[in-house]
Amino acid sequence: MASDIDRRLAEAVESRRASLIALTQDLIRIPTLNPPGRNYREICEYLDRRLSASGFQIELVRAEGALADSDRYPRWNIVARRDGRTSGDCVHFNSHHDVVEVGNGWTYDPFGGELHDGRIYGRGACDMKGGLAASIIAAEAFTRTFPDFSGAVEISATADEESGGFGGVAHLAREGWFDPSRVQHVIIPEPLNKDRICLGHRGVWWAEIETKGRIAHGSMPFLGDCAVRHMGAVLAEMEATLFPLLATKRTEMPVVPEGAKQSTLNINAIHGGEPVQEEGYTGLPAPCVPDRCRITIDRRFLIEEEIGEVKAEVKRLLEKVKSERPSFRYEIRDLFEVQPTMTPEGAPVVRSVARAIEKVLARAPDYVVSPGTYDQKHIDRIGRLKNCIAYGPGILDLAHQPDEWVGVDDMVDSAKVMALTLGELLLPGQ
Ligand SMILES: [Zn+2]
Repeated sequence: MASDIDRRLAEAVESRRASLIALTQDLIRIPTLNPPGRNYREICEYLDRRLSASGFQIELVRAEGALADSDRYPRWNIVARRDGRTSGDCVHFNSHHDVVEVGNGWTYDPFGGELHDGRIYGRGACDMKGGLAASIIAAEAFTRTFPDFSGAVEISATADEESGGFGGVAHLAREGWFDPSRVQHVIIPEPLNKDRICLGHRGVWWAEIETKGRIAHGSMPFLGDCAVRHMGAVLAEMEATLFPLLATKRTEMPVVPEGAKQSTLNINAIHGGEPVQEEGYTGLPAPCVPDRCRITIDRRFLIEEEIGEVKAEVKRLLEKVKSERPSFRYEIRDLFEVQPTMTPEGAPVVRSVARAIEKVLARAPDYVVSPGTYDQKHIDRIGRLKNCIAYGPGILDLAHQPDEWVGVDDMVDSAKVMALTLGELLLPGQ
């Protein structure tokens, strides 16, 4: 049985359906392509106008000096805050405003924001301008209907999530914006479907492995030492022992899809020998024994694993190959790492969103964990804030695809869930 508050919040969202559609379309029509990071200032100024008019205090924050920040492509972020009448918790909705490249295969204008059969099309529609728009509508509906709430509502739109979030959430977290003393609940409206709560993600370790050889004439390979053959031995050892080992490591985390419930390793790239010639070069290659070969590995690990052991596993493998091949020499370089994170199901933000889903959709939510990472890592690791989830409209599989879309009904439903969550967290005594 819905309470009077829930009913009024749901109606307030429903009455803003046209506004939600227009807002989503406007956001899609600002092409915030990353890389290189276009129109970040423009989208922040658009949101500034919108949220100022709704009574929010605005701060535009440039991540000066962050990775990829430059005067040509400055990394702009916006944080909007509206305080209630009395003190209380702060609920923060964080969305990234950048989108990935368009790619081929579109039948709609990728920056047209066309509405067709209840779906809005465009790059970023589901990942994640639809989620950003839904959170703004939820916040506007809530603050207008119950202006005497306690605590605060914050909305941020941040740069560079698609390229690691260093000019966005990582910068804000470092500057204290996600300090648990000022923000208590964070919802990231990534497209996880309106009935699922995403608790966290697996860990990441990227590294480059290089095998070393000695250059010589290709007609006399015995005078050199072939780095590609050494790498071949590494790959063969991975096939024989490492991949089977990873398949046995299963997690208790509810990772989706099913295939990602184990440790995984991808070889993102391999290169050995002379550089690939520019397109249009019509000559033949030169005969040389390659003196180095490199691979980039992308290891995704589980909350049950420890990153030191993840690295040691690969090191042991390389040492084993070394013991079997007299001239084997290698180097391994760390490129990037992220610890796994998972908010407990009993955390306040999880419980509140779960109850709101039950009320709006008349079903219990599914709890999931993402196979890849998103900005929660920075909120958790740099901001030290654990009460954080991803929840938002849209179908994850459509992200980064041609003809990406977000459903209007899904956006309305998840905006209702977000508004009811605000009611639950910021209207004490209800
Ligand atoms: Zn995203």
